[in-house]
Amino acid sequence: MQSKLLDRANASKAVKALISSYPNAHYYLDFKTDVDLMVAAMISAQTKDEVVNAVTPDLFRRYRTITDYAQADEKRLAERIKRVSFAGSKAKNIIKTCKAILDFHGGKIPRSMDALTSLPGIGRKTANTILINAYGIVEGIPVDTWVIKLSGRIGLSRYSDPEKIEKDLMDIVDRRHWKTIAYVLKSHGKVICQSKIPVCSRCMINKICMRNGVSSNK
Ligand code: SF4
Repeated sequence: MQSKLLDRANASKAVKALISSYPNAHYYLDFKTDVDLMVAAMISAQTKDEVVNAVTPDLFRRYRTITDYAQADEKRLAERIKRVSFAGSKAKNIIKTCKAILDFHGGKIPRSMDALTSLPGIGRKTANTILINAYGIVEGIPVDTWVIKLSGRIGLSRYSDPEKIEKDLMDIVDRRHWKTIAYVLKSHGKVICQSKIPVCSRCMINKICMRNGVSSNK
């Protein structure tokens, strides 16, 4: 994908305006422990937040620890998360990941990007999500489908590859906002820059955005 790109000054201005417009933007999946968070993040790919949040209360009551998941029966676990997409492969990855955490990390979820992304089913998005929201460690920016869509639409990145978008955003966004910018963009996508029909007339950055007036799912 080749999108038009804002110059650095306007990109920075757009990001600052969005951050100040959504001061309460936060991670959208429910969890109480780091294990809950890892599992919720792993099952969330290509699944609506509401569906994940509907599935996890029962799941988190039945499985509480890394060992619980490592010893889980794969078919039963898949059945318990059957409302999420690709439940079978996600159940398999959760079990494999938790076994690897037991075997190589003493049963504790590792707290670095390299160690997390070496686990099955955990890419940079999930690793960033875990590091930021469970441990307050900020190494990068989680790039989900909303971040991909809005970064392209607004003109913050010309790429569709999540790692390239993450690099562009890390360059534009002040480091102290890396932990929330993904949730800011998602909030903007839900409230104003909606997927099918963005409400550009109400948008706080419509004088800067490269796609002001876009009327379809682009
Ligand atoms: S001007 Fe329109 S396309 Fe651009 S960010 Fe605002 S709502 Fe989205």
